[in-house]
Amino acid sequence: MPASPLDLRDIKGQETAKRALEVAAAGGHHLLMIGPPGSGKSMLAARLPGLLPPLDPAEALEISMIHSVAGLLHEGRLMRQRPFRDPHHSASLPALIGGGHRGRPGEISLAHLGVLFLDELPEFRRNVLEPLRQPLEERRITVARGTGALLFPAAFQLVAAMNPCPCGWLGDPADTCRCTPPLLDRYRARVSGPLLDRIDIRGREGRTLKEHWKDGLTTFLGMMCSGFPNMIYMNGPGSPSAFFSARTRASMSVLMRVVARLAG
Ligand SMILES: [Zn+2]
Repeated sequence: MPASPLDLRDIKGQETAKRALEVAAAGGHHLLMIGPPGSGKSMLAARLPGLLPPLDPAEALEISMIHSVAGLLHEGRLMRQRPFRDPHHSASLPALIGGGHRGRPGEISLAHLGVLFLDELPEFRRNVLEPLRQPLEERRITVARGTGALLFPAAFQLVAAMNPCPCGWLGDPADTCRCTPPLLDRYRARVSGPLLDRIDIRGREGRTLKEHWKDGLTTFLGMMCSGFPNMIYMNGPGSPSAFFSARTRASMSVLMRVVARLAG
């Protein structure tokens, strides 16, 4: 972990995604970023802890204790920054959730009071993603160990990222998607609806967007902040709306019309 938190100012452009990060930080929202390869999703995610309020002493002690149990507290020093954990998509269930034969806290507890970043979300095994539903709701996790159970705190903010399709270019005006419909269906089916329902903001950060569209969207996002707990924004007419539930698609079509009006 660097000495000082990473700053959004280091990132050029990506105004819509930055805005979504700020909104997520202010509202404690989980975030799913959908964008082509190389659009900076990881760099953006790593900056979320720096947007969150500083830890108070009790919080610093709490996360330090969790890291100590996991054997990750360096030289016994208290942790002063909110954690950012980015487990690889090959992570096992005990590594992510906790437990195992030594009963250690998993990545979701190491991310307690900080950020859990799951890059390439559809590449995670389904049996690893599904158990995230409990901690996302209860902000803690119970893991079986031998004859008993262990309870670890897991109040993390989830940032997930994915490509819009396996090749990465679906809906991008600058390139052409080469994925077949069955391939797209399989890719989308890997991220479960119930998990997506717990993610509040979903954005799609393209690299070649028309400025007027982006501006309209930012304006709309600002309007949504004030009154709607479940915000959705997207930034391209070719976005893969099949990702989303019927309810979400309905609110999206309203949103798209308003954005189109704003964009003139
Ligand atoms: Zn594709």
